[in-house]
Amino acid sequence: MADADGCSDIRPEKNGITLVFFGRIEPELEDALANSLEELVGSLRESLPVRPGISRRYMAVPENIPPHNQERVFLSSLEPVGGNLVLGVTNTGFYDPYLGRHLFSYGRVGGSGVLSTYRFRKETDTRRQFLDRMGKQMVKTLALACTLDSCPDTGCIVSYHRWARDLDKNRYVCPSCRNGLLWSLAFFMESTAGNTPVVPGRNGEWL
Ligand SMILES: [Zn+2]
Repeated sequence: MADADGCSDIRPEKNGITLVFFGRIEPELEDALANSLEELVGSLRESLPVRPGISRRYMAVPENIPPHNQERVFLSSLEPVGGNLVLGVTNTGFYDPYLGRHLFSYGRVGGSGVLSTYRFRKETDTRRQFLDRMGKQMVKTLALACTLDSCPDTGCIVSYHRWARDLDKNRYVCPSCRNGLLWSLAFFMESTAGNTPVVPGRNGEWL
């Protein structure tokens, strides 16, 4: 059942990652994205003080989306959503007029991020490849929300991606990024939902 703002009434777990699906996202993709995060969190669980739960919410696509920098509207829509880390998923493209292309994901200080399926749908031929690339980009989006910078290891999922096919080179999350994720996940899981923790030395947004 949806409430007035279009959110489902599924409440996020106290310590957790909330996935927010904007508009119509196919259930198969929802599952692939959630499973990708479950797999990552499962691989880190022995080193985490609290294992983050992963919950799902659903919101309508925001109105008045601009022709560029659309991610800002989506990131703002995530602000009232509970959960220690909040990650949105949309089919809307995020066009960067400075770079002259659509980008895949953004992260914001405070533990939120957004992922666009737009270029993956345009640049991917098979369904299996699409789901595989999206699952990896979901992990990258979490890393951005956890304030990690792009990794210089091209085999690592947290590395920079110019094209959707670049994700095919990624086979793992490298030890350095694992440590960064552990530190950040522990930090965000201890923060109170609704508060915006300040991360020392970090500022702004990253692709
Ligand atoms: Zn890495």
